[in-house]
Amino acid sequence: MRVLFVASECYPLVKTGGLADVVGALPLALKPFEVETRVLLPAYPGVLDRLAGARTLLALPDLFGSEGRVLGAQTADGLDVLALDAPHLFERDGDPYLGPNGQDWPDNHCRFAALSWTASRIALGDLPAFQPDLVHGHDWQTGLTPAYLRFAGDDPPPTAFTIHNLAFQGLFPAPLLDELRLPPSSFQVDGLEYWGRIGFLKAGLAYADRLTTVSPAYAREIRTAEHGMGLDGLLRRRGADLVGIVNGIDETIWNPATDPALAAPYSARSLRGKATNRRALAEECHLEADDGPLFGVVSRLTVQKGLDLLLEVLPDLLAAGGRLVLLGAGERAMEEDWRAAAGAHPGRVAVRFGYDEPFAHRIQAGADVLVVPSRFEPCGLTQLYALRYGTLPLVARTGGLEDTVIDANHAALQDGVATGFHFTPVTAGALRMALERAFRLFRQPRAWQAMQRRGMTRALDWSVPAEAYVRLYQDMLAAARRRGKTAQQD
Ligand code: ADP
Repeated sequence: MRVLFVASECYPLVKTGGLADVVGALPLALKPFEVETRVLLPAYPGVLDRLAGARTLLALPDLFGSEGRVLGAQTADGLDVLALDAPHLFERDGDPYLGPNGQDWPDNHCRFAALSWTASRIALGDLPAFQPDLVHGHDWQTGLTPAYLRFAGDDPPPTAFTIHNLAFQGLFPAPLLDELRLPPSSFQVDGLEYWGRIGFLKAGLAYADRLTTVSPAYAREIRTAEHGMGLDGLLRRRGADLVGIVNGIDETIWNPATDPALAAPYSARSLRGKATNRRALAEECHLEADDGPLFGVVSRLTVQKGLDLLLEVLPDLLAAGGRLVLLGAGERAMEEDWRAAAGAHPGRVAVRFGYDEPFAHRIQAGADVLVVPSRFEPCGLTQLYALRYGTLPLVARTGGLEDTVIDANHAALQDGVATGFHFTPVTAGALRMALERAFRLFRQPRAWQAMQRRGMTRALDWSVPAEAYVRLYQDMLAAARRRGKTAQQD
């Protein structure tokens, strides 16, 4: 089976969040199931440098304002990539989505329409070297792909569309439709129209054959008004086509026994190296040496991630003898708040801003507890990495956090199944109570270590989710075949 992945990020070529981790890992996990993939993504600066021997496979003379081409190459890990090289759209420094002023690039509609349009051309057979059986798009940047295919006629391959985060919708003013190569009839409530604007995510939800999201809990939540962002009606209508599949983690990259970023390797069998990492992290961050729990945060700094709640309870966390290390990138105001907190508590709170992959690994290895107080969380990867690294996740009970962490309540502790701590509702008060529970358990080293080992030995890799995607693809192809037969009979 041949599947064309389309996405705006892919680890290790370009990453701003969990989307990149998924798009970089899932295709490799599909290989043992004889699913051959190509990942189509924009050739931002830096992407081509990391792709040795890229060859031109397809010329695109008229790509939204100028010419472009599709280059093919393989990463060192064996990921087959199709890079959309279009300097007028993608050769820009900095973030994939934002200009230097922190605002969206003004032509984002053209940039990601070009990505989606190119995907549709490949799906329709323009690239003889790779003719996909189906197309799998990820997030709003690829939402127009199913729309282009729907309007292309002529029995296009079926499309799957994965929601990694419903909050990012790719909304644009209605008059821009003229630039998008879609017919006016697409601008309707059953199409890509979203409250008077063009919604790229909405297009994906409306036109893809199957929808997935990254945890069963989030798949339920987004059908409600509270989490549906105005799309809950559509998602309820499409409920039969929507499934939640929890992400896996790439254990070649996230494994404390082999991670080159760590001060010492360790495993569930021998946790001694974890203590070395803890000391090294405290030293690196100029924190006081201490026996109390060390809390870690690795996160985008946005309202979604709820770090304002953690800031609110920080005095309690410190008074109870905790220390905290935060690595974050995102909103300037939130950065300032955390910088001030670190300034007020030298030796107890350390913060670093910006994007730092090796430091993220060192926090996962050195912390005792990873705090994820998200207001909503489609899947969340950091709590999965924490489980793998023997760092107990303390999480808001929402979305994928709920699905992947088992709360250390009385019954779960007695049954020996707990792996972390939940709190609900997502308020500072509930977070404070969960922290208190974590402090209490930390003083019981045997119970603590049992939880660490349980998390570390849980199957978190991609093999189970990959199988679920294979089943979905097989289902889609069977449905397409049935449709084809019916059409012939007609
Ligand atoms: P989201 O995709 O919403 O940002 P996830 O938990 O799914 O959240 O994925 C976040 C990914 O980004 C993880 O791989 C995490 O380690 C990484 N990450 C987040 N912030 C940073 C940062 N400032 N520096 C390095 N890695 C980060």
